[in-house]
Amino acid sequence: MREDIRNFNQEELLKKFKGLQFESYRARQVLEWLYKRDVDDFAMMSNLPRELKEKLGLYFCIEKLAVEEIKTSRDMTQKFLFRLKDNTLIESVSIPLKARLTACLSTQVGCKFSCTFCASGSMGFKRNLEACEIIAQFLAIKKNVPLHKVNNVVFMGIGEPLDNYENCLRAIRILNDPGCANLGIRKMTISTAGFAPAIERLAKEGLQIELSVSLHAATDEKRSELLPINNRFPLKPLFKAVETYMALTKRKVTFEYILLGGFNSSVEDAQSLIRLVRGLNVRINLIPYNPGPARGRYFSPTKLEVLFFKNYLAQKGIDVFLRMPRGVDIAAACGQLKYHVLRKEKQNREA
Ligand code: SF4
Repeated sequence: MREDIRNFNQEELLKKFKGLQFESYRARQVLEWLYKRDVDDFAMMSNLPRELKEKLGLYFCIEKLAVEEIKTSRDMTQKFLFRLKDNTLIESVSIPLKARLTACLSTQVGCKFSCTFCASGSMGFKRNLEACEIIAQFLAIKKNVPLHKVNNVVFMGIGEPLDNYENCLRAIRILNDPGCANLGIRKMTISTAGFAPAIERLAKEGLQIELSVSLHAATDEKRSELLPINNRFPLKPLFKAVETYMALTKRKVTFEYILLGGFNSSVEDAQSLIRLVRGLNVRINLIPYNPGPARGRYFSPTKLEVLFFKNYLAQKGIDVFLRMPRGVDIAAACGQLKYHVLRKEKQNREA
């Protein structure tokens, strides 16, 4: 069976080429076409001999992501809906900031974790993405924005990255490989809903990857309502895992806190949060809720709620950052575009 060539790092590909009796410098040429020149077709790799191109096609493939839809926001955030070889859909987002660009990638088709504020959680889980499918999103975004340098990657799209641990870590190592995408490890962020045992495992990998944890509430009662994973891994084991991560990696961890109007934005909520994180080397990213179409039970906070919450934390010495949602006009939050398209397809089938 042919394997996608993007599933290999440079060292592995050199070994494969040696085993197939291809000259080793040809592996470096192929990787340069893939990662530096944005070419995803062996036939277009013009410095390879025809015979080698044919042989490569016998042993390897480069599965293309079919672009189902691209939406561009007023703030230039772009949302990509890709169709995979098995006809399933995933989303990626490109978020420009001056000359830099962050690529937000999916790691699973659907998600098992059913967070109640998330459109992806309402659509069920289909399968894990392979490393090459994660990398293909990065390369598709890179190709689409030639004027920008994609210098940050966040695993914050559809799916729980730590629930697809091996493939995610493989994709990270290939993106980080100087012979492949050569993206700095500290330029990548894993965002988790709070998969505590996998955080402990990640801490021991010897990677300096950024870790971002979806906290969203500072008591088990409220957090379990938002993130059912909290029933399996409540705040106590979650914080133990986060502290292990910080101790072993010496990295600051970010807690994401979606402010939901009237739900987790009161002075009591702020006080609970302060008690939870006081003394830890963490940052709180406050994100005013961007309402999606999947559920109607939560609301955007008022400007007053947002400012009060942020200032209250800041005054108590907490490192807090207000992150405004990007691409609100194009449903850029996780799973929203896929949700729209699947609903449209269902309506068409029923018509
Ligand atoms: S927020 Fe993340 S973990 Fe939760 S349902 Fe959505 S994709 Fe899954």
